[in-house]
Amino acid sequence: MRYCVNFDTRNLQPVETDVLVVGSGISGLFAALNLKNSLKVTLISKEGMTTNNSYLAQGGIAIAFDEEDIARHIEDTLKAGSYYNDPTAVKVLVEEGRRNVERLMNYGVTFDQVNGRIDLTREGGHSTNRIIHKKDYTGKAIIDQLIQTVTQRSNIDIYENAFLVDVLTREDKIQGALVIFDQELRWVVTNHIVLATGGIGRIFSRSTNSSISTGDGIAVAHRAGARVEDMEFIQFHPTPLKGEGETFLISEAVRGEGGRLRNAAGETFMDKYHPLGDLAPRDVVSRSILMEQESQGNDDIFIDVTHFEKGVFSKRFPSIYQACLKVGIDPEKNLIPVSPSEHYLMGGIVTDLCAKTSIKGLYSCGESARTGVQGANRLASNSLSEGIVFGYRVARFINQSTEFTTSRDHHGYHRLKELDRDFKGDIAGLKGLMDQSANILRSRERLKSAKEAIRQYDETYLGLHSLDRSFLEFKNMIEVSRLIVTMALERKESLGSHYIEEEQ
Ligand SMILES: Cc1cc2nc3c(=O)[nH]c(=O)nc-3n(C[C@H](O)[C@H](O)[C@H](O)COP(=O)(O)OP(=O)(O)OC[C@H]3O[C@@H](n4cnc5c(N)ncnc54)[C@H](O)[C@@H]3O)c2cc1C
Repeated sequence: MRYCVNFDTRNLQPVETDVLVVGSGISGLFAALNLKNSLKVTLISKEGMTTNNSYLAQGGIAIAFDEEDIARHIEDTLKAGSYYNDPTAVKVLVEEGRRNVERLMNYGVTFDQVNGRIDLTREGGHSTNRIIHKKDYTGKAIIDQLIQTVTQRSNIDIYENAFLVDVLTREDKIQGALVIFDQELRWVVTNHIVLATGGIGRIFSRSTNSSISTGDGIAVAHRAGARVEDMEFIQFHPTPLKGEGETFLISEAVRGEGGRLRNAAGETFMDKYHPLGDLAPRDVVSRSILMEQESQGNDDIFIDVTHFEKGVFSKRFPSIYQACLKVGIDPEKNLIPVSPSEHYLMGGIVTDLCAKTSIKGLYSCGESARTGVQGANRLASNSLSEGIVFGYRVARFINQSTEFTTSRDHHGYHRLKELDRDFKGDIAGLKGLMDQSANILRSRERLKSAKEAIRQYDETYLGLHSLDRSFLEFKNMIEVSRLIVTMALERKESLGSHYIEEEQ
């Protein structure tokens, strides 16, 4: 189905803007802030401005501060990504990171310092300390500051609880968007749209991602005919706190600062699996945990920080410390129970180095984009930097454009039947299907049966119309799940985070 809802633009209230930015995470905010003041910008987020993955980021931003480290950071990124990355995009990411961090700091964002210098920590896959951070709430510190800055810009109109349904296209060119503002479907008239809509975690039953992560931007772009690739590459973080639903992350920086993984018998085990031990790349650590669970015949896995000097953990990781206390674990005395869950999507909407997609006037940056930076497995703390580097680049590209149109060509779509059934149970069903088929360890058989089950969801739901947000998200989740399973089956060999058990 080309569109998700029935509509006729002649009956919709228009909202004119030069640029529509969809998303209030780091990439959307950074893009909006770097658009020139003479452009009228509309920034929307489907929930509140702070409900997004950026706000949850803990560890920090990976930045190479000198020439020598640029080469090492590039190599670490390529190695973690199984050399499937686009080397030019990686070079751009690493070389332009520092300048964009300076831009962040000019907006008032601050990072932890030691003896007057920015403190650098380490995470898995990094050959040296290069991660700048604000204790363990780096994302919150950045987003709070950027929101303060963006609300002062008179050229940027901000709408919370505004849901992008679809983009309007003609001859592969953007001609506007359908957005639900306060339950009313309206027509945003523009020929520049930036999709900064984040990840897909909520299509799995356990994920570190915020509630907004249903892959909407990717589904919207795909329905419009934009290229979407590498959806099979999904990162499962090894150490979220054991639990259901939205799992609280125990940052990799905890291991970077000396935390150790232990099995049910209390033994450290990562040195058996990888030369970098506890700081091996994430895909390796997540798989090693599953292997260790199997060899122990016991699912219990822990992070141990009890050897830290008293008071050090709570000072360096205050949010994690408090989250553990809340569930009755004192990290200074007890082992922290962890279990891998979905965390990050490497694939997405294919973009070039200016964040342009295959549709004229449609751009994507941040986690929804497939820039080629992350390869088959993302290096830790490379996504906030991707958000600012490509958020800046897309703004710079749009700033140079001379084509801003308010042309109101008519669009309409009337093929869908009214939603006539309860779909909520099937959301859980789809998540269960994705848990079984597209998880850390995959099998062709499970992927094939998932593909068939998703085809049935397609048949049942894609032809139905409703302006209910959770139904529209569900349709997007079906679309994204189909892309993941199809691309996983098309890939001939295991690579990075895509791991077919029977072929090992
Ligand atoms: C717990 C956690 C910890 C992390 N820690 C780190 C870290 O330390 N370092 C690092 O580099 N990365 C980290 N990551 C990854 C990183 O935070 C994300 O990849 C990155 O922040 C994504 O930014 P974004 O702007 O692309 O998307 P998000 O920040 O997720 O923002 C997406 C925005 O799009 C909006 N949106 C989505 N769909 C629609 C729609 N249909 N209509 C309107 N609006 C819509 C949402 O409302 C939201 O505002 C972490 C991720 C998580 C979950």
